[in-house]
Amino acid sequence: MERPDAREMLYEGKAKQVFATDDPERVIVRYKDDATAFNAQKRGTVAGKGEVNNAVTALLYPELEDFGVPTHFLARLSEREQLVRRVRIVPVEVIVRNRAAGTFASRYGVAEGRPLDPTVIEFCLKSDALGDPPMNAATAVALGHASEEELETLFDLAAEVNDYLLARFAVAGLDLVDFKLEFGVTGDGELVLADEISPDTCRLWDAETGEKLDKDRFRRDLGGVEEAYHEVRRRLEATVGAALDLPEHDDADHEHHDHEHHDHLHAHREGEEPHDA
Ligand code: UDP
Repeated sequence: MERPDAREMLYEGKAKQVFATDDPERVIVRYKDDATAFNAQKRGTVAGKGEVNNAVTALLYPELEDFGVPTHFLARLSEREQLVRRVRIVPVEVIVRNRAAGTFASRYGVAEGRPLDPTVIEFCLKSDALGDPPMNAATAVALGHASEEELETLFDLAAEVNDYLLARFAVAGLDLVDFKLEFGVTGDGELVLADEISPDTCRLWDAETGEKLDKDRFRRDLGGVEEAYHEVRRRLEATVGAALDLPEHDDADHEHHDHEHHDHLHAHREGEEPHDA
C-alpha cells in the first residue's frame, strides 16, 4: 500500500495520536511509549511499548478479519504507525473476562485467577472523567450511548474475538485472563473492532508459570515491564500460522456454529434474535 502522508493531528490520547490523511475515511494512528494506569493517576513511559503494541495489533487484527471479525485496521506503516479506517468510537468499552482479576476480583472479593464460566462480558462507559463506570445494556441505551442492536453486535463480536484470542494466545504459551475492546462506526455505518489489542489492554499470564506478561507489571511495579511486552510480541510472531485449537468455525456450518458455540455466553439473555455475524 502506498504510504499516505500524515496531516494534522486530530486527537491525542494517553497512548496514541491520530493524524488525518488526504483520504477523509482513513487516519494514521501513532503508538506512544507513554503509559498510564488507575485512570491516569499513575504515569510513566515504557521504552519500546509503542512499537510492541503497534506490531501486536497489526499482527492480530488481520487474523481476526480472517476469522470473520470486521476491524478498522488497514496496514502497518512503520514501527509505530498504522493506517486505519476512520471511525466514530462507540463510547462503550467491552471487557471480556475468562478469569477473575483486577477490578473484577476486588469488586466481588474473589481470588485473582479464578476461572469464570460462562465467560463474563461487561460494558463500561468510556469516560476518563468518571473512571469508566460499569454500565448495563439498559443504561447504555437509555443514556443514548448505543442502540440495543449495536450492543448485541458488540456482545457477539466480543465473544468471537475471545474465541479466537484464547486459542491464538494459547499457542503462544499465554493464558488470556481478560481484555478490553473498543468498537467504532465507519463512514458507511459499519460497526467494526477499533483501538488496539496489546499487553496494555489484555491480561496475559505465562501458561506454565503464571508470570504476568502485561500492563500489570507497570501498574503494580513488578519490574521487567519492557521485557514482558517484548516477550509477548516475540511469542506471537514465533507462532504465526501455527494450528489453533479453535471452536468450530467453518463457513459451511456457520449457522449451526453461531447458535451453538455462543450459547453458554448468551445463557442469561432472553428473546435474542439470531445474529448473522
Ligand atoms: N482495560 C483497559 N482499559 C481500561 C480498563 C481496562 O485496557 O480502561 C483492560 C485491562 O488491561 C484488563 C481488562 O481490561 O486486561 C479488565 O480490566 P479491569 O476492569 O479489571 O480494570 P483494571 O484492573 O485494569 O483497572
